[in-house]
Amino acid sequence: MSDHDHDAGADAELLARAAVALNRYGDLLRDVGAVFAEAGHRLYLVGGSVRDALLGRPSPDLDFTTDARPEQMQAFLRPWADALWDTGIDFGTIGVGKGDHRLEITTFRADSYDQVSRNPQVRYGDRLEDDLVRRDFTVNAMAVAIDPQKPAGLGDFHDPLGGLAALRSRTLDTPSAPEVSFGDDPLRMLRAARFMSQLRFQVAPRVLTAMTEMAPQLARITVERVAVELDKLLLGEDPVAGIDLMVQTGLGDVVLPEVGGMRMAIDEHHQHKDVYWHSLTVLRQAIDLEDDGPDLVLRWAALLHDIGKPATRRHEPDGGVSFHHHEVVGAKMARKRMRALKYSKQMVDDVSQLVFLHLRFHGYGDGKWTDSAVRRYVTDAGPLLTRLHKLVRADCTTRNKRRAARLQANYDDLERRIAELAAKEDLQRVRPDLDGNEIMKLLDIPAGPQVGEAWRYLKELRLDRGPLSHDEAADELLKWWNARK
Ligand code: ATP
Ligand code: MG
Repeated sequence: MSDHDHDAGADAELLARAAVALNRYGDLLRDVGAVFAEAGHRLYLVGGSVRDALLGRPSPDLDFTTDARPEQMQAFLRPWADALWDTGIDFGTIGVGKGDHRLEITTFRADSYDQVSRNPQVRYGDRLEDDLVRRDFTVNAMAVAIDPQKPAGLGDFHDPLGGLAALRSRTLDTPSAPEVSFGDDPLRMLRAARFMSQLRFQVAPRVLTAMTEMAPQLARITVERVAVELDKLLLGEDPVAGIDLMVQTGLGDVVLPEVGGMRMAIDEHHQHKDVYWHSLTVLRQAIDLEDDGPDLVLRWAALLHDIGKPATRRHEPDGGVSFHHHEVVGAKMARKRMRALKYSKQMVDDVSQLVFLHLRFHGYGDGKWTDSAVRRYVTDAGPLLTRLHKLVRADCTTRNKRRAARLQANYDDLERRIAELAAKEDLQRVRPDLDGNEIMKLLDIPAGPQVGEAWRYLKELRLDRGPLSHDEAADELLKWWNARK
């Protein structure tokens, strides 16, 4: 520990804070520590769990490392645990369920990397230090011994790589040379961007240099591992910082090229100078509007809402610039990107539909919404309506205060109109006034495509005119039917 920056007072304070954060696990830690001690093995809390405790932030899971081999763990943990999982056993990890807790315990690793295929060859180690040095960042390479004799179960603190000093300066640095570390596992570069968002840390200068040089190597990583990190990045506290780091270093070109692609040449005649920064601002403003925790769908939609702009940009004769139908093109591009990242169909549909709808509000001028337009807006947004409200409100980055206030007021107006109409009719679920059976009876036709056509006609009518009485609807249906013959 000697060659690292030290501030004994600050370190002691951090360690005291971590002890407080881990106090609620006291019983569990002493318990599991005793099981390992009895079996003659050492156990350490490690990685994100230690880092988060030092930061005083809640940790999603408890990660441990040990000298015990996975099969040994399985044998001596079985009588104690409520459940054991071996899904990660190829990487030396045993999952343990105990009460409400879930523990992930991994045997010390001392991996070597096959420099051809670059796949890690899992090799177990005997020393804690070797395990810590192969971790991604020094702030993730600290360990606390679990000591069942101690009241809170916490023994010695191990920080051979200067993680505590890095944590104090909120810096992400690699335990050894970043070029080697990122060559071993390029996903670590994306994890840097993720932690920048999640923890509001900065990357060390040498890490930034290595990332910029090595970004294309991220292409070697499977899309599943990439998507996990992207989600955590977007759900973090400062996704704008993480995304911008990706774009600046070139990681974005590999996994999210459309976002950096929004950096367009500055056009002095046009207000949309930089669609890229506009998009990041909209993302930040959308986050400010969240009221129920981080919303992945909203955040993706905010980030991607204008990705159709570069492809639809036209220079108009009057010197201006237009982006006709960029929401249509953008919705398609969003769908393609989200699919490539293997998101669920629901997620792909939702994000792309929000991108598609983000412009509609602006198509109606100053508050001249007909009832029909309001119905269609609500119907097309469906369950996405609340998010659409947030996206459209966030999509206002003009510095002109009067203009911004007018847009928000217009949107207030629209929301008022929606509420008024919703009080009179069931806006959430606009359906035709006659159902399929009634249609078949009235027109005296069997089930088939014609019923569907009639149904869609009535739905359009319902959207245009609002609810009709049964007789009115029957009348209109027959008029339509007879005009077709
Ligand atoms: P969180 O759980 O909040 O996502 P975390 O730091 O715990 O953050 P995990 O992905 O759970 O991240 O990984 C647990 C620990 O394993 C990390 O803290 C780090 O020490 C190590 N680790 C994870 N992925 C890598 C990697 N690709 N290369 C090196 N070490 C890694
Ligand atoms: Mg973790």
